[in-house]
Amino acid sequence: MRVNTLKRAAVAFALALPGAAIAAVVAAPAAHADGCYTWNRNLYQGRSGSDVRELQIRVAGWAGNRDIVETDGIFGPKTQAAVRRFQQAYGLRVDGIAGPETYAKLYELQDNDCTPRHFTYSELDGGCGRGGYSGGPLSATETRENALHTMWKLEALRRSLGDKPLYVTSGFRSKACNNQVGGASDSQHLYGTAADVVSRTSSLCEVARDARSRGFSGIFGPGYPDHDDHVHVDSRRENNDDGIRNSTSWSAPDCGIGSN
Ligand SMILES: [Zn+2]
Repeated sequence: MRVNTLKRAAVAFALALPGAAIAAVVAAPAAHADGCYTWNRNLYQGRSGSDVRELQIRVAGWAGNRDIVETDGIFGPKTQAAVRRFQQAYGLRVDGIAGPETYAKLYELQDNDCTPRHFTYSELDGGCGRGGYSGGPLSATETRENALHTMWKLEALRRSLGDKPLYVTSGFRSKACNNQVGGASDSQHLYGTAADVVSRTSSLCEVARDARSRGFSGIFGPGYPDHDDHVHVDSRRENNDDGIRNSTSWSAPDCGIGSN
């Protein structure tokens, strides 16, 4: 209903315009429209705005070792370094500037709902089989947004490990679900900021080691209690809603990854 009304309004608007203007109105979206988000200017160090933030979300998995790319809308040195690593990873010209070539790759990677092509909201909602993003400490909208950030890091992890499937065995958990599985009361899974992953082509240690350079500040894997059959990754440093644990916390003793 709503879509039809808008369409009719758009047609009426177009008919009221002179010929040349109609051509421009019709042609513009075809140039580089993307179902999720379209960037309209080049971005480089020193620029800021919501378009920078959208970029940061998508390159956050290309942070340096033990580092994170803040989604603060300010294009600083860490964002530049992440853009360079993204460009390197996808065989683009490496200049640290987000321009047409970088955007084309991002458009190729993102689905219309803004998730990266190899991950979906339904894959991360879990919720002990109930689905959705409700029942946690945050609103469903905030939790979904966190899950989206998590997915872009997972996409980078997947790419870095050779572009082979990564499987999410647990993503968001409602409070009820978290209690049911015996999760920690302050688990990052409650916020949508965590994922438990497995791979059929990389060992768990390979996954855990690579995750250190994919913007994940929480990593738990083989050798850490109850983590011998998956790798847990999370973004606790970026989680400002839990009121705790804002520092990096890693432990996968069997992989040579210490607790700090
Ligand atoms: Zn976990």
